[in-house]
Amino acid sequence: AVFIPRNVTVPNPVLPILAEEQVIMEAINENPIVIICGETGSGKTTQVPQFLYEVGYASSDGAIGITEPRRVAAVSMSQRVAKEMNLSNRVVSYQIRYEGNVTDETQIKFMTDGVLLKEVQKDFLLSKYKVVIIDEAHERSMYTDILIGLLSRIVPLREKKGLPLKLIIMSATLRVEDFTNNKKLFSVTPPVIQVDARQFPVTVHFNKKTPLDDYSGECFRKVCKIHRMLPSGGILVFLTGQAEVHSLCRRLRKAFPFQKNNTAGSLVIFLSQVLPKIDLDNYSVVPVDEGDEDRDTETDDDMAGSDTDLDLGDGDSEEDEKSDSSLPLYVLPLYSLLAPEKQAKVFRPPPPGTRLCVVATNVAETSLTIPGIKYVVDCGKVKKRFYDKITGVSSFRITWISQASANQRAGRAGRTEPGHCYRLYSSAVFMDFEKFSAPEITKRPVEDLILQMKALNIEKVINFPFPTPPPTEALAAAEELLIALGALKEPPMTGRLKQQLAAKLSCPISPLGRVMATFPVAPRYAKMLALSRQHDCLPYTITIVSAMTVRELFEELDRPAVSEEEAAELKGKKARFLQMQRIWAGQGPMQKLGDLMVMLGAVGACEYAGCTRKFCEENGLRYKAMLEIRRLRGQLTTAVNSVCTDAGLFVDPKMKPPTEAQATYLRQIVLAGLGDHVARRVQAEELLDDKWKNAYKTALLEDPVFIHPSSVLFKQLPEFVVYQEIVETTKLYMKGVSAVEPE
Ligand code: ADP
Ligand code: MG
Repeated sequence: AVFIPRNVTVPNPVLPILAEEQVIMEAINENPIVIICGETGSGKTTQVPQFLYEVGYASSDGAIGITEPRRVAAVSMSQRVAKEMNLSNRVVSYQIRYEGNVTDETQIKFMTDGVLLKEVQKDFLLSKYKVVIIDEAHERSMYTDILIGLLSRIVPLREKKGLPLKLIIMSATLRVEDFTNNKKLFSVTPPVIQVDARQFPVTVHFNKKTPLDDYSGECFRKVCKIHRMLPSGGILVFLTGQAEVHSLCRRLRKAFPFQKNNTAGSLVIFLSQVLPKIDLDNYSVVPVDEGDEDRDTETDDDMAGSDTDLDLGDGDSEEDEKSDSSLPLYVLPLYSLLAPEKQAKVFRPPPPGTRLCVVATNVAETSLTIPGIKYVVDCGKVKKRFYDKITGVSSFRITWISQASANQRAGRAGRTEPGHCYRLYSSAVFMDFEKFSAPEITKRPVEDLILQMKALNIEKVINFPFPTPPPTEALAAAEELLIALGALKEPPMTGRLKQQLAAKLSCPISPLGRVMATFPVAPRYAKMLALSRQHDCLPYTITIVSAMTVRELFEELDRPAVSEEEAAELKGKKARFLQMQRIWAGQGPMQKLGDLMVMLGAVGACEYAGCTRKFCEENGLRYKAMLEIRRLRGQLTTAVNSVCTDAGLFVDPKMKPPTEAQATYLRQIVLAGLGDHVARRVQAEELLDDKWKNAYKTALLEDPVFIHPSSVLFKQLPEFVVYQEIVETTKLYMKGVSAVEPE
């Protein structure tokens, strides 16, 4: 075990990057492209823009732009930097997909990487900027990767024009070779500046056994033990999703209730600092700062009672569920979709006499640094969306994280003093983790990306300087889909040859493709928008597309209830929702639009009622999703108006339901966009195997697919349907289903 001195006095933490200011600024002055690597929390995001601002890199004719892969980071970092610099958010601003506070005066602009990619389309040379900082490059988000590829070409172009642009790539201390050892990307290798973060030692405690599935329960027990037995210091728990985060928060709040004005708590916390009661089990201990190899040391029995060993058992403890108000715990959730004002709470000190416990998803891994964390509890898992590269079938899966992620998570415990990381898995399991997670671009369908690139007149996508190129079969599938949608000019021959040409990935964009590329939605939906001029269908298509783009419109009412009251409440809500679903589904030809009509009806009804939280809660709609749909409708309406200047569209809160003719036409539009997503009900004579009962057959998949039980068409089983997506859970399920008629 590592010796952790007690009563260490922590000097006022000075950000490590401040010591490197001169080195960084010299490198930037002398090189067009610079890479800065530093441990999370070393001050890259908050300080580098300030260094640049102070020496005059931002001016009225050019700003400093910083991209973040996550919206949370763009918003909260702009606020933090504005505050540190004592400037208003008119000068230090942010822009994310739906909102922002950018003004004419903005000189430092934080934005998501997707926002900057859109700007490249309008102005390839990014002439608004003097400096572009690509932050969190190690996350390898798809847009970040593409931006780095594009900027590798934009920087020399700007140089030629005599308007030099500085590019700074910032990353946590992770593999940067994909950027530096890549001659196609940067012919001159940019200098890499390492910021040595003062990282305090973090003792890593592995579980002896890896819980099979109840890692949430294991997190709960571990937090209880830390809180009861270990000295003061914040706890940060990593879980995989919002629902898990909330349920652990509830359990912890129940176990250690915190009432305002609780004074007993501070005494107990104080006592627990003076008298740590520590139980010793047999645990392997690996200090994170000594490399990853597993020392697998068994803790010595005669160390029992030593206060230097902070291993905790992973067994069950009877007492845990009992509520104990003498030990208040200040429990806060943290995840991307949480409202910004609630997110901001984690940065403030907890109320006196309480211990802070933040239960977070992956956002706390590198994007946000929470002050005062001494203990990290890492379940070792992450929730990711997996796609089939060719068919696009997706599923959310909870998988093991990479070793690099596990070490990032552990590092969160050692920012202000030595810390501890409790890994709820064994060192043997850790050794089996992959070293790094794969870049996003290699893991998902790329049709949206390819359309954006073609709109930039990058015809031979295969020659693009990707930091890591997507697999060729994904590129070919994207090219074929875009040809089928009419977004790319069709190669002038048929059959096999045509496919071969598509496989060469060199088809130029069509006029329709150019229009589609201006809409900030996936190509299939962009096609629907582009077709909707006739019969005044645009407002409906915009609404349907917005609803299809925003995830999880409806509240999850089949969730397990924690109490009998909740069970009764959920049952009531479900009955009400089913009733509303039937109303929203409309009548006659509208009904055939199926789930898409339900979306249209739900959004229409919600807007009619003023889009209030109350209406949403009463009718099983997710309030946040409805607000997002509203914003996206506004944005798409603006985008459509700028393409067809005579459309004169506006977002009508009192939108009438479509007429019969419109409903029929809408189904044709939907079919045009989702044409490759047609499924046919399996015929009786094909029913050789029971697994095909009520199943559908698609062009892309061998296996049977089914209409999802949440669909309004679940019982009707129309002969032909189109679906928005196939999601794999226990079976392959189609979601967002509409009926189509065979012609
Ligand atoms: P990096 O980008 O290198 O990970 P940051 O610049 O994000 O580092 O953070 C530097 C320090 O600033 C962190 O240690 C953190 O404690 C502090 N910090 C960042 N954002 C906030 C905030 N909103 N409130 C309080 N402290 C913050
Ligand atoms: Mg950062």
